[in-house]
Amino acid sequence: MSENKCGSCNVEGCKSRGKADAKDKACLDHIKNKLVVLSGKGGVGKSTVAANLAVALSEAGKKVGLLDVDVHGPSIPRLLGLKGKKAKLKEPWLIPIQWNENLKVMSLGFLLPDDNEAVIWRGPVKGGLIKQLIEEVAWGNLDYLIVDCPPGTGDEPLSVMQILGKDAKGIIVTTPQGVAIDDVRRSITFCNKVENPIVGIIENMSGFVCPKCKEVSDIFGSGTGEALARETGVKFLGRIPLDMEIARAGDMGRAITELPEDHPVKKALSKIVAQLPGV
Ligand code: ADP
Repeated sequence: MSENKCGSCNVEGCKSRGKADAKDKACLDHIKNKLVVLSGKGGVGKSTVAANLAVALSEAGKKVGLLDVDVHGPSIPRLLGLKGKKAKLKEPWLIPIQWNENLKVMSLGFLLPDDNEAVIWRGPVKGGLIKQLIEEVAWGNLDYLIVDCPPGTGDEPLSVMQILGKDAKGIIVTTPQGVAIDDVRRSITFCNKVENPIVGIIENMSGFVCPKCKEVSDIFGSGTGEALARETGVKFLGRIPLDMEIARAGDMGRAITELPEDHPVKKALSKIVAQLPGV
């Protein structure tokens, strides 16, 4: 490799290679948009949203990296049908799994010898691993790096924001229940405290359209995320309905983008993607 060529992005003249080798700064200079998907609590569909935003952007021709930093329960490999895949090491880089021509995926799940392995690590160890997953992966030139964080405002999202820097932007996923809303407030406070901007809030599992009679039932309520967005001055990116196709796609490792264009879930996703920075 030529000395003035960056090992990660392969861009002539890039000085980041040396910095990455020094383990103090990665070659993040060639990532245009860094989006960190957060949620206050688990099970709200954060990983589903992160994976499907990444797929939708990649299918729109963008170069995308999807990083799952959920150390204790990496679910991106399952959601994208990549369970059992192992990442290869090509010194000094970890090679991400290619989902399609434009989408590279990395998860701790690709590094563990056994899918059933339980990871019992304290904060500093997790922070070190997250740093490696961001800085030592051959992401190359990316239009987007989408990071799927574990729920809450703990060590992992903090490490991610610190490593990615102030230009990383949060996307907050919630469900419409009242109990989820206090957690969203905490996610907003978190982004404000670490001084990272927020792209907006997505309300997932918002309304159930009965596949038989087409009547909409607001099982978890609706509009709470939007009201909170208004109250806090954060942009509301849209609602994604509770839909069997999403659960089915997730279980089968398939993307929502495979649904027909006029499917309410596909339409909701497209509307959100259109509001992302750089689209
Ligand atoms: P989180 O990352 O917040 O823990 P996941 O994305 O893993 O949540 O989603 C949890 C489960 O809910 C998965 O089985 C997923 O397929 C399902 N799911 C997510 N969003 C929806 C939705 N809008 N409708 C139906 N099922 C959904």
